[in-house]
Amino acid sequence: MPELPEVETICRGLQPHLESRRILRVKVIERRLRCLVDRKLAQSLEGKTIVRVGRMAKYILISLSGDVVWLVHLGMSGKLVHVDPETPKQKHDHILVSLDSGQELRYHDPRRFGLSLVVVANKLYDLPQLKHLGLDPFDARFTGSYLHSFTKRSDRRMRDLLLDQQIVAGIGNIYANEILARVGVRPTTRSWKLKRAKIEEIAATIPEVLNEAIRWCGTSFSDYRDADDKFGEFQNHLRVYDRGGEKCRLCPSPIKRVAIGNRSAFYCPSCQK
Ligand SMILES: [Zn+2]
Repeated sequence: MPELPEVETICRGLQPHLESRRILRVKVIERRLRCLVDRKLAQSLEGKTIVRVGRMAKYILISLSGDVVWLVHLGMSGKLVHVDPETPKQKHDHILVSLDSGQELRYHDPRRFGLSLVVVANKLYDLPQLKHLGLDPFDARFTGSYLHSFTKRSDRRMRDLLLDQQIVAGIGNIYANEILARVGVRPTTRSWKLKRAKIEEIAATIPEVLNEAIRWCGTSFSDYRDADDKFGEFQNHLRVYDRGGEKCRLCPSPIKRVAIGNRSAFYCPSCQK
């Protein structure tokens, strides 16, 4: 599932191809995504110029002329790729967008948990999907004291608290586990037990780990590809995630895998206390 670094990588990859380009035609092949794609999608997008490609948490925000925004979420397995129109169409290519550059943008999503919505720009943050989102980890307001205001009064496990999109938006299971590995905290630790200084360290480590993943163009396990349909490489640099039974990168201990809720957590029993 694409998390913040993958979505950021896709946005950065799309920016040079999409910004200042005009949308000529839109063809919706399959409307049944997480929510039905609006029948008027083509009508809303055709003729508009793409002003900016940005990101909010795991949402891709394509700002268009006429003060409208095309919001795309990749769900579990979505891809938004920029291709030559001669590239053979694939099964699960659901939305095709022709640009005045002669190139094409394709939304591909085998599991169809993605989302495509067009909204008036000033109503964007009224959308139920965005309204309750917590701070983006790269937001200047995301600080140790902000995070501490949640951790100090919560009995939740630290891994789960980092997954709470209403606190910090964009972190999924891969990066929550990696962030905690960097700071030597077990994913199972109850958040109130962590001292203020440790929370400060976690808050500072979050953007560091995400930036590192962005530099490696994200993590590809199965479906994720960047805007040019290439794999990310951060999976080769993961310290703990999906490494149950393998040797820790810092000590001889094997990485432990535990189930928290219905998702696995990973840690080194020696390096993480
Ligand atoms: Zn270790």
